[in-house]
Amino acid sequence: MEETNLLRRKVGIKSLIIILIGLFLFFLIGCSDQAAMQQDNQKQVEASHDESTEDEQDKVAPDKSQKEEGNQPEKEAQLVEYTGPVEHIFFHPVIAYPELAFDQDPISKGYNDYFVTVKEFKRTLEELYKNDYILIDINLLINKAGSKVTANRTLMLPEGKKPLVLSIDDMNYYDYMRKNGNVYKLILNDEGEVCSYTIAPDGKEVISQDNAIVPILDQFVKEHPDFSFQGAKGLIALTGYQGVLGYRTNQRNSEDFNQKKRNALKVIERLKETGWTFASHGYGHLDARKVSYDRLVKDTKRWKKEVESLIGPTAVYVYPYGSRVVTGSKKFKMLVDSGFTLLASVGPSPYLKGYNHNAIMMDRRHIDGISLQTQQDRLSPLMDADYVLQEKVRP
Ligand SMILES: [Zn+2]
Repeated sequence: MEETNLLRRKVGIKSLIIILIGLFLFFLIGCSDQAAMQQDNQKQVEASHDESTEDEQDKVAPDKSQKEEGNQPEKEAQLVEYTGPVEHIFFHPVIAYPELAFDQDPISKGYNDYFVTVKEFKRTLEELYKNDYILIDINLLINKAGSKVTANRTLMLPEGKKPLVLSIDDMNYYDYMRKNGNVYKLILNDEGEVCSYTIAPDGKEVISQDNAIVPILDQFVKEHPDFSFQGAKGLIALTGYQGVLGYRTNQRNSEDFNQKKRNALKVIERLKETGWTFASHGYGHLDARKVSYDRLVKDTKRWKKEVESLIGPTAVYVYPYGSRVVTGSKKFKMLVDSGFTLLASVGPSPYLKGYNHNAIMMDRRHIDGISLQTQQDRLSPLMDADYVLQEKVRP
């Protein structure tokens, strides 16, 4: 113990630790703007390749009778054809305790860059609603006919509404998140509603419907039903290396594994009943472009074993760091063959494209400290970033 104390006094070691924590955080948290920019460049490079293989059938209107099946007859009459761009935005879990996120520890910068607070998230919802966006289920964008998969570009939506996919990355409530202002996990209250559970900075247990995206959005849609098309909410992108939704289901040999699994399954079931869908975010949050083919195969298999077994199959893969693999490459084919027919990256504007009748690629905009503070013009069709940032809790 004394040796450790001595070491800690040495400034050199201390700064090394700070740098290491900083690097660790950078690699853990979702996408970086740099990754997004790389993707933008990459897209330009690959543009000519993609053009030649773009699905011709994407432009053909799909069989609408199928798409409208779920609608109530009286509502069907009000739906009109929408063929414009489909926005897809994503968040990380929201900051419930800004005093922990922005406490000037080495992780604070990461929180300022990649997260939004509860109040900022609520203001974002107000703005999106005011600007006539309507949440849709991402699966509406996938046309599947036999083995052919094409992007659905013609949606039937309420008149005047613009489609929006909202996703949440890394809703695993990792250990570092619990220490830095996010909640601990999602649970169900006695009424079966999804709430968050956390231990607040004062040591008290807090069960709330006001500290996490899921209950906040559930509440918003309850108050504004026309913000959701057919009850759609958001897309939850999960890794597996620290379990799911705050349940450490990765600890498969732990004594209470079965209990944790049962509790997670209850929440998952409720989320599905209430309009939420799921995506793979890889098992270990690896950079799919950089890692070897074999490592990506292993990661994908492990995600299926430990996470798909809980949430069920999904057609959506959300690249960690927004780092997408080369279209048509061996890695790309492997992901598609694993059932992921919609592969989502990060980019500054809406992007939806089919590839060879077997996969769809889509971009998402990051809504976080970086975009709210430095890309206000780009965000303007969706929201007034100044209004969203009014809380003034950021460093
Ligand atoms: Zn991520």
